[in-house]
Amino acid sequence: MGTNRHMSADSRGRYTPEAAGEAMPGSEGPAGSRTHNLLSPRRVSLMQEPVLVLNATYEPINVTAVRRAMVLMLKGVAQAEEMHNTEVHSVAQAHKVPSVIRLLAYRHIPQQSRALSRKNILLRDRNTCQFCVRVFPSSELTLDHVVPRSRGGRSTWENLVACCYRCNNNKGDRTPEEAGLKLARRPRPFTLHTSRQLMRLIGHRDERWRKYLFY
Ligand SMILES: [Zn+2]
Repeated sequence: MGTNRHMSADSRGRYTPEAAGEAMPGSEGPAGSRTHNLLSPRRVSLMQEPVLVLNATYEPINVTAVRRAMVLMLKGVAQAEEMHNTEVHSVAQAHKVPSVIRLLAYRHIPQQSRALSRKNILLRDRNTCQFCVRVFPSSELTLDHVVPRSRGGRSTWENLVACCYRCNNNKGDRTPEEAGLKLARRPRPFTLHTSRQLMRLIGHRDERWRKYLFY
C-alpha cells in the first residue's frame, strides 16, 4: 500500500536545526550524545513517536504520542507494557520511553467514538485522493462532498472523502457520475475496524506492538 511510506515519513517528520534555521552549537555530526537533553532535536521527535494504548483488558484502542503516554503514566492512569531501549532525562530523573501502555481502569469505548473531522477523514482515506487514488500530504488534500452540498449532500462520513485539489476542481458542483469520476471505495464511518487497520499500519514499525495487534 502506498500510504505506508507516507505515514512513517509523516510521523517521523525530522526536526533539524537547518530546517528551523537555527544554529545549534555543539551538535555537529550525526551521533551526538546518547542522552537526550531537553532541547535536542532528537528528543523533540522522540516525544512524538507513536505509542499503542491498550484498554485494561489488553484490547488495543488507540495510538497516542510518547509525550501524552508519559503524562498518563505519571498520573497513574496507565502503565507501560513495553518500553523502548532509550531514556529521556528531566532535571531530576531518567524516564524509560514507553512503546505500549495499558489503562489501569477499563474504559468503555463506544462503537463510533471517532469525531467527524477533516483529520479523521484523511486518516480513514489514508491521505489518498478517492478519485485519482494518489497519496498526498494533508496540506494538498481537501474534503469533497460526493453529492455536492448544493444538491442536498450532507456532511457525513458517507458523503465526505479526501480529494486532491485537481480532482476537486474537475468535479466542481457535480456528482461523480456526472463528472465521469469513480470513487476508489465507498466512504464509510470510521469504525473500530478502521482504527485497528491503521494501528497495524503504524505498528509495522515497532515489533513490540505485534503481539497486541496481530491476532
Ligand atoms: Zn485526485
